[in-house]
Amino acid sequence: MNRIGIYYAYWARDWMVDFHPYVDKVADLGFDQLEVHAGAVAQMSRAERQALKAHADARGLALSYCIGLTRTHDVAAEDDAVRAAGVTYLEQIIRAVGEMGGGGVGGIIYSAWPEQMPSGMLDKRPAMERSIGSLRQVAPLAEALGVVLNVEVVNRFEQYLLNTSAEAIAYVREVDSPNVRLMLDTFHLNIEEDQIGAAIVAAGDLLGHFHIGEANRMPPGRGHMPWNEVVSALRQINYQGAIVMEPFLQVGGEVGRDIRVYRDLSAGLDLDAEARDALAFTRALLAS
Ligand code: MN
Repeated sequence: MNRIGIYYAYWARDWMVDFHPYVDKVADLGFDQLEVHAGAVAQMSRAERQALKAHADARGLALSYCIGLTRTHDVAAEDDAVRAAGVTYLEQIIRAVGEMGGGGVGGIIYSAWPEQMPSGMLDKRPAMERSIGSLRQVAPLAEALGVVLNVEVVNRFEQYLLNTSAEAIAYVREVDSPNVRLMLDTFHLNIEEDQIGAAIVAAGDLLGHFHIGEANRMPPGRGHMPWNEVVSALRQINYQGAIVMEPFLQVGGEVGRDIRVYRDLSAGLDLDAEARDALAFTRALLAS
């Protein structure tokens, strides 16, 4: 049975927030998992992390962690000092998540977000190799602490290194650690892949985490995503990991700005009711 989760930033306008209210809200709505910001968790004191973990455990919620590294922590950067700062920061995140019992850390953990291919760059292979080198550096720590690093394939408007499942499969094979896997997201798959189902099937056992959402980031069930194709592909590879929805409807704040929500997709909608409906939609889909 796949755990079904949701990303806290669906409700939040800032990235760094108190996650405790979301633990209760998401548990009350019936989800199995809450995804939180990995950077926020790394900033917390040990006691704050333990309190969050204890709260999630008490409510029967699993936790997962997501982040897009900033340019100052770009682990694919040409500048050695920037790359080293990124590696140190990833290690800090891995230790923090390890302290909370381990789990999945996903997102743009292989470069910076958002980031374009520099105009002078004609071949991204050297940047890819620097990124692979950084992930190889942190992989032993992730293995020791039970943390799985899931590199998220995102669309061309957000990043240039891993835009397709095929690119991420090759990347993960080169890093060659059982704790470095890939993450796919239907929102990004819809933009970049020839066939969504085939891209999922190709990932096979290397798929470590899965994000769902509609093409305009509405909650699952409110758009035209080919959900039957998605679920049939996940079944074909016997995917047992978490499925986390990541809708973004609200204008404003850091989240609205960074996700580029330029019109109020939440108008007339009750966010909690939408999340509950999307959860029911996803559960029905998986049971079909
Ligand atoms: Mn995602």
